[in-house]
Amino acid sequence: MEIYNTLTRKKETFEPLHPPHVGMYVCGPTVYGDPHLGHARSAVSFDILYRYLQHKGYKVRYVRNITDVGHLENDADAGEDKLAKKARLERLEPMEVAKYYTDRYHDMMDALNVRRPGIEPNASGHIMEQIDMVQQILDAGYAYVANGSVYFDVVKYNRQYHYGVLSGRVVDELLSATRDNLEGQEEKRHSVDFALWKKAQPEHIMRWKSPWSEGFPGWHLECSAMGRKYLGEQFDIHGGGMDLLFPHHESEIAQSEIANNCRPCRYWMHNNMITVNGQKMGKSLGNSIMLEEFFTGRHPLLAQAYTPMSVRFFILQAHYRSTLDFSNDALQAAEKGLRRLFDASSALAKLPLPETAANAAEVDGITKKIYEALDDDLNTPVAIAHLFDAARLINAANDGKAQLGKAAVTQLRQLFDDIVSGVLGLRDDRQGAGNAALLDGLVKMILELRQTAKSNKDFAASDRLRDELAKLGVAVKDTKEGSSYSLQ
Ligand code: ZN
Repeated sequence: MEIYNTLTRKKETFEPLHPPHVGMYVCGPTVYGDPHLGHARSAVSFDILYRYLQHKGYKVRYVRNITDVGHLENDADAGEDKLAKKARLERLEPMEVAKYYTDRYHDMMDALNVRRPGIEPNASGHIMEQIDMVQQILDAGYAYVANGSVYFDVVKYNRQYHYGVLSGRVVDELLSATRDNLEGQEEKRHSVDFALWKKAQPEHIMRWKSPWSEGFPGWHLECSAMGRKYLGEQFDIHGGGMDLLFPHHESEIAQSEIANNCRPCRYWMHNNMITVNGQKMGKSLGNSIMLEEFFTGRHPLLAQAYTPMSVRFFILQAHYRSTLDFSNDALQAAEKGLRRLFDASSALAKLPLPETAANAAEVDGITKKIYEALDDDLNTPVAIAHLFDAARLINAANDGKAQLGKAAVTQLRQLFDDIVSGVLGLRDDRQGAGNAALLDGLVKMILELRQTAKSNKDFAASDRLRDELAKLGVAVKDTKEGSSYSLQ
């Protein structure tokens, strides 16, 4: 199996350090907001890797962290902690915020049929490990204490090692680009240095005792410390979204290199971003769509509700290293494609098993091409295109236009089990989807009738429709733009 290694910028044959064991670490969510399509893309991409490695017989230890402390607003050691800010705004304990959004994340990922990792550590539960690592880096001479905070000395590190090895950034260029941009970061010797430990301001709630101050760990540190704790000083695969490449992953490499005297992992893998009309989709850009909005259809950019499986299939129809452009057309096409695949799957279950060799070679060829595609850096769109070839063959046999012998049918059933439900993790959720669309259509029809009644000044009828809907748990909200509804 070949995978594209961001570190070497080429495809490489995957060879784990200790086969059949594979250690895999993926950066998980910062739990201060509802999961959106970007979360789904990263989780689904690495879910495919996890499932495929398991399918190939590897024993995978999959660690995906939960960031619940230390992720500051502008990712550069300044601004308020994202979670603490949410807690302050909503008058909650930070732990309540973390628990709520961790649960939301789990619910949405379960709906998308993403397998949960074997270990899911929280940053706040690993403060001791992080303090130990800061001390090791200080002892090695690559960090300094300033006013109770501890910073990693990137410039010193870069003299002997290579800060930028992963992202291709050049320290000198970073320094000149950020020279005048040190506001709130005067403690740093150089603007490129990053925090390993931050002294907490008096109002900061999340704080722990350390040799340097009462404070909290820097964001990059948790992944180095928890990766080492659960996967060892060197492990096989580190994954995450491309937006984490710099400074997060670059800094992880630097920290681990100094603390462990070796590079933390061999293969770095990054999934690409989601775009809307060519522009990046992101929470900070105000154009991100939450997963729940996909499932209910309640977002101005959405033409309808989409089932979790349609969203999953939509994600898989692009290669994980390509950008994925959001559009209703693409999602509707995914919905249709998925239906075609599951129609074929239902037909396949009912096909007879005649004792002939008809089309066995053809099915062999398709199977081989699907595995070749997955072995080629998890090329799911190509694998799916070949699955549609299989679906065409099944439909032809089902219509009596072609014949499939026992060997061919048996192999196809194995293929659908192993690849469609096993590796691609697709399951038939049309039943629920049909009901949701039917419900939505019915309620909208009743709201239109009510609108007609109102226009005719028949307010008794309009009120009765609203009250009857309320009894069924459908709350109607009237605004200047018209009526909308929500399910209670
Ligand atoms: Zn991370």
